[in-house]
Amino acid sequence: MTNDKNLKTYLSKAQQEHWAIGHFNFSTAEQLKAIVEAAAELKSPVMVATSEGEAEFVGYDQAVALVKSYQQAGYAVWLNADHHKSFESAKKAIDAGYDTVLIDASRLNLDENIGTTSQVVQYAHRGLTSIMVEGELGYLRGSSEVQEKVEINPTDYTQPEQAADFVARTGVERLAVVFGNIHGIVTEVITTTPTPNGVGAPTEASGEEKLDIEHLKKITVAVPETILVLHGASGLPDEDVRAAIAAGISNVHINTELRVAYHDTLHAELEKEPNQTTPYKFLASSQDAMKELVKKKLKLFGSVDKI
Ligand SMILES: [Zn+2]
Repeated sequence: MTNDKNLKTYLSKAQQEHWAIGHFNFSTAEQLKAIVEAAAELKSPVMVATSEGEAEFVGYDQAVALVKSYQQAGYAVWLNADHHKSFESAKKAIDAGYDTVLIDASRLNLDENIGTTSQVVQYAHRGLTSIMVEGELGYLRGSSEVQEKVEINPTDYTQPEQAADFVARTGVERLAVVFGNIHGIVTEVITTTPTPNGVGAPTEASGEEKLDIEHLKKITVAVPETILVLHGASGLPDEDVRAAIAAGISNVHINTELRVAYHDTLHAELEKEPNQTTPYKFLASSQDAMKELVKKKLKLFGSVDKI
């Protein structure tokens, strides 16, 4: 890493002091600029990220070059490969020069997840370079968009004893955990309780995700050294995010809310000025909307004035 400000140091500090580093996705240069400027104005360290799809769109080398341009200017920003689903795609990000990678093999069974994740850790820690690797354990439902209905089943949660085993066997330094969170923004959530035959029975339907903070606490006890990551924080009430950070989350991912802010503002702008064809003019208001939202989230995460 060319950046003299170290991500691991900031994450450990966040873990000890009970605040969290924000993690925001981008797929265009002006979105990245909005995130970096918002963080810099608040003196907040920040992680930026591309999923596999976002990275293919921006270009792996181009994403690295863009983020490096900010790092070389002294910004406390790091690039993560978000939800890379295979060894091959994680390797592609590592080879391109990403600062850190999330290998998400959580759709596989436990042994296969451990196998794939270990392979990425070994590759990331080979030779002189050692980049931070995040793994994911538990079934995180949903996708990074607005969805009508998602079921949550407590059997999907990250089990504390499995988390300890997973961390010990893979060597990951960050772990994405599931304790009631869902990817994306959901308009209807159905919580099911497992019945003795293993089939979930719907018990509760509500418009909100509900985090199980007591369950999170059990995970923090099982893996006290590991940086725990909350995915799917879009659409969660502020008090739930605060409670999760107080209970041991040190890294929070926001994607869908940013996409919605960017899209809706751009849509309104194009309707207001249908003849405006200059991109830096019609994109300015959506860039501002993203910047404001990132600032709001950084304040919520408690990472202001930490640089
Ligand atoms: Zn995620």
